[in-house]
Amino acid sequence: MSRLDSPLQAALARIDKAGQRRTLRAAALAPGGRVIRDGRELVDFSSNDYLCLARHPLLTERAREWAARHGTGSGASRLVTGTSDAHLALEAKIAAFKGTEAALIFATGWQANAAVIPALLAAIPGVAVFTDRLIHASMHAGIAMAGVRQHRFRHNDLDHLEALLASKGADAPARLILTESVFSMDGDRADLQRLTAIAEAHDAALFVDEAHATGVLGPEGRGLSAEVPGRIDLVMGTFSKAMGGFGAYVAGSQVLIDYFVNTASGFIFTTAPPPAVLGAIDAALDLVPGMDAERAHLAALGDRLREGLDALGLDHGDSSTQIVPAVIGAEEQAMALSAKLEAAGFLASAIRPPTVPPGTSRLRLALRASHSAADIDAFLGVLGDAL
Ligand code: PMP
Repeated sequence: MSRLDSPLQAALARIDKAGQRRTLRAAALAPGGRVIRDGRELVDFSSNDYLCLARHPLLTERAREWAARHGTGSGASRLVTGTSDAHLALEAKIAAFKGTEAALIFATGWQANAAVIPALLAAIPGVAVFTDRLIHASMHAGIAMAGVRQHRFRHNDLDHLEALLASKGADAPARLILTESVFSMDGDRADLQRLTAIAEAHDAALFVDEAHATGVLGPEGRGLSAEVPGRIDLVMGTFSKAMGGFGAYVAGSQVLIDYFVNTASGFIFTTAPPPAVLGAIDAALDLVPGMDAERAHLAALGDRLREGLDALGLDHGDSSTQIVPAVIGAEEQAMALSAKLEAAGFLASAIRPPTVPPGTSRLRLALRASHSAADIDAFLGVLGDAL
């Protein structure tokens, strides 16, 4: 019991009433693109371990080795004594992977966005910010911290972005466009060729979140930003998804990185990531460029799944990646479907408001490199029956 319970219970009751109460349930990643939940092995379409690296022996070994050699904690924040040789070497390796002058490691992707965006916006009073309507909550958090109003364009609608750029912020000292290269809930891509051309034509800077592209898309898995080298001002991505570990990076010019080291609160006032985390990232960066076969397999699985959803009459939006939404619509229906699938041995989480817009509740299907074509077919069979 706490003195705060009573107002919080009232807030929870409101969440309950809206049918949006969430609870934590345990799960454990298992080999073969499986997950263990409630003692049962399920085919896992809900994790972001796209390349199945989270249990790869090279990552677990290097994490173990670096912890054994350097300890479990980093001891302090980066500007005090928390920066080790490993941090600096890894940041150089990340910059090389992303083809940028410099890079900086963050504890998580959420923290990276919530740290660098307000730092950036604070440097340019009056900056005009243009955002895709579906950008991640952490980018919204960063913009809100800066107290800056956003000009939102319709999702992936670059005509709308151009119209906004033509009419808003012409007198601003700078203009900044924020988007994702692969959208987390829809699995569709931003058209970075056109977006970079628009940014250049309007003299706007571009920030791209590559959380779901890093490791999976672009040449050698270096992300879709690698397809437009040197044309995106600032890229962030995570090590917690396809890279099989934990943490995040921000990559860009040396000036940007120097600036964040001096101003980004979520970098300065937090303990440096520990050796085991760095070891796993280091190993993932060694493996990922050579995983073209896994990337091709994921792409083929995605096509197979989308064809199967078409046959069932289910909308998968503009997905063209390892993330495939099966849009159901009503929240209760998506939840019921997810429960039926789980009973039949498939973990396909329902994603509902407020994570996605009302009326677009969906099964968010995330493919993993260890899935087989037979897994997809079995899933589609069960889904068809459940519908
Ligand atoms: N950006 C996007 C697009 C994401 O989907 C996520 C994670 N769901 C994040 C940032 C945050 O990354 P992390 O999980 O490392 O905090």
